[in-house]
Amino acid sequence: MPAITYEHIKTCKQSGARLGIVHTPHGSFETPMFMPVGTLATVKTMSPEDLKDMGAKIILSNTYHLWLRPGSDIIKEAGGLHKFMNWDRPILTDSGGFQVFSLSDLRKISEEGVEFRNHLSGEKLFLTPEKSMQVQNDLGPDIMMAFDECPPYPAEYEYMKASVERTSRWAERCLKAHARPDEQGLFGIVQGGEYEDLRKQSAEDLVSLDFPGYAIGGLSVGEPKDVMNRALEYTTPLLPADKPRYLMGVGSPDSLIDGSIRGIDMFDCVLPTRIARNGTLMTSSGRLVVRNAKYARDFRPLDENCNCHVCQNYSRAYIRHLVKCDETFGFRLTTYHNLHFLLKLMENVRQAIREDRLLDYREEFFEAYGFNKPDAKNF
Ligand SMILES: [Zn+2]
Repeated sequence: MPAITYEHIKTCKQSGARLGIVHTPHGSFETPMFMPVGTLATVKTMSPEDLKDMGAKIILSNTYHLWLRPGSDIIKEAGGLHKFMNWDRPILTDSGGFQVFSLSDLRKISEEGVEFRNHLSGEKLFLTPEKSMQVQNDLGPDIMMAFDECPPYPAEYEYMKASVERTSRWAERCLKAHARPDEQGLFGIVQGGEYEDLRKQSAEDLVSLDFPGYAIGGLSVGEPKDVMNRALEYTTPLLPADKPRYLMGVGSPDSLIDGSIRGIDMFDCVLPTRIARNGTLMTSSGRLVVRNAKYARDFRPLDENCNCHVCQNYSRAYIRHLVKCDETFGFRLTTYHNLHFLLKLMENVRQAIREDRLLDYREEFFEAYGFNKPDAKNF
């Protein structure tokens, strides 16, 4: 029995979106699902109890950051990431690749791996497919990600082609190096940027290696939304229907709905938590910047249609005051609401799939949120 399996429940007759269940060693979750990001083995300002209370079923943590601090040997000694951070539900870790490419200086990519400088200490380090697997085996998440190269957008065709081919060779090395396939499922990552033939090549290479799940990487890296949606339209049909599909780094409400419509099951993004710490909220009637002066005497909840404990108990005026004074409690409240909002959105998406009306739901949601306006913001 593989560590990760996908159970298909139904396909939305109106949109083609899939409703399913992903089974893991630490329990199951319905899909489409949003995964809150806990970079350093904590979703910033949230306790595991908060996360359970808001309905989070799986969280993501970052291999690169935990490898550097506190070190995967310490987490292994603690009994793995679940025990270390007191989270007994599923965890997914990334491969470290994305951070190596986005955070560190002086990267040197070779067939063997990537040489880079630790963004904290400046120390020279080398990350390879084998090293990424060893660190993720030590951390012990339910789902691990293959080590891939994440080229910037836009990248030249020839570069992207060479990169896709290397990522396929690295994927094969990851499978060979993965020491705990009965306890942890390893997902392959389809790359190829906006080039349809390279996405096809990448998907075919990876599907031939028979991973228990597949991610689509290299999107939401600065390309326009229609480029992302088109890439999903030609990529998801190439992936096996009986395996979960994960769109990496996507978390704006419109993209969660549009990704689901294109057959995606799992999403993650720092967006809801990052903007929360800046005092920006996602609400059923659109984006709300609670720092603004107009909320100083506004004693209504952040979102009048939200049933989260923040909206039941605290006002815009109070939260604005806390956020403006840099009070930690203010960031707890805004973070809680934003994560609850996206988890609730995915629950509504799943309900709409059950009722074969996800395109109608999209229209209603976009209208209320303001995505249909010409000057609509990204979130
Ligand atoms: Zn709320």
